[in-house]
Amino acid sequence: MSSDALCRSAMPLFAAARHSIPTLMDRARFKDMNNNYFSFELQKVDPETGARAGVFHTPHGDILTPVYMPVGTQATVKGVLPRDLKEIGSQIILSNTYHLYMRPGDGLIARAGGLHKFMNWDRPILTDSGGFQVFSLASLNNITDDGVRFSSHVDGSYHFFTPEKAMDIQHNLGSDIIMAFDQCSEYGYTHEQAKKAMERTSAWLERCYKAHEGYNAPQQALFPIIQGNLFADLRLESLERCKPFVKHGIAIGGLSVGEPKPLMYEMLDVLKDKMPRDVPRYLMGVGSPDCLIEGTLRGVDMFDCVLAARVARNGTALTSRGKVVVRNGKYKEDFTPLDPECDCYCCRHYTKAYLRHMVNVGEMTGAMLLSLHNIRYLHRLMAGLRESILGGYVRDYVKEFYEKQEGQA
Ligand SMILES: [Zn+2]
Repeated sequence: MSSDALCRSAMPLFAAARHSIPTLMDRARFKDMNNNYFSFELQKVDPETGARAGVFHTPHGDILTPVYMPVGTQATVKGVLPRDLKEIGSQIILSNTYHLYMRPGDGLIARAGGLHKFMNWDRPILTDSGGFQVFSLASLNNITDDGVRFSSHVDGSYHFFTPEKAMDIQHNLGSDIIMAFDQCSEYGYTHEQAKKAMERTSAWLERCYKAHEGYNAPQQALFPIIQGNLFADLRLESLERCKPFVKHGIAIGGLSVGEPKPLMYEMLDVLKDKMPRDVPRYLMGVGSPDCLIEGTLRGVDMFDCVLAARVARNGTALTSRGKVVVRNGKYKEDFTPLDPECDCYCCRHYTKAYLRHMVNVGEMTGAMLLSLHNIRYLHRLMAGLRESILGGYVRDYVKEFYEKQEGQA
């Protein structure tokens, strides 16, 4: 008997559900009454804005939407343990296919029992397809209709990603939500360039879908990605081309890549009323507090972004009163919490003066506490949005948010 099987046989049934490869008992537990691994309950749509509140049922638990997903690029949310992510209300995390393929390798993670078990996270995981990193991080060698040849940002070695390869890796990782392999177009692309990338993305989606069907892995939900840059006609065409392949969710990619925010909002407005209603809609790579709010107001249900943890490592906190740069001298003897409205471990136990000291002397505790707080802040922001949608006062909630950020409240 393998150590994994030994371990599982010794565990109570509910604990066995933590494994990424579900047992028969787990499957029974996590399927809904219609025998599906995934389903989305749309609980309320705000009639004025189109903001939505829902519940996304997945094999590793329910996700209340709208939701912010912390990013665990290298199979860890930097500086925050899974235990603490649960305490601050993280419902699902995102991890990166490209990085995990490079190191430690998706085969190794499969042999470890899948990503959930490898990183000790038993709630849902979404993985991207690697497309964004291949196009933004690696040295591109050649893009053809077949796939992308590139050299690794780690050691310069050559690799070839195809839609089938992206599915293969994500299958090995065992994530709950997997993303189609897409060609990201950059801010500044011409209509012709963006159209070519969108059409290629569409052709690749069909191949992703076929490869995914071939795995017979209904415990993984494949999300198509809408591309089309900042061109309304291309976005709408991309959406229509995605629709035949939408089963459990759909994503909007290629935004928040350097364009002014109003242009991003414009694209969301174009798509809003044409998107499928009965599945979650995921806006990729978007996660500043104002963008989370504006995206939600445009009918988006899921978001991810590295911003919260990245600015934390630079000593900046996101708070209900705007950004706080704790390194600032005015906090030297400030013995008040970072955010008096926050209930996180950092705000309950530490002062700005202590955090400033940690950041100034380069202690990792500073970045850890700030990361914990920043992620908790975004979870509270989204929970508040959700409550206000359900309660019918989302406009008031948003107004109060902006007034506080600007110091008027
Ligand atoms: Zn806090």
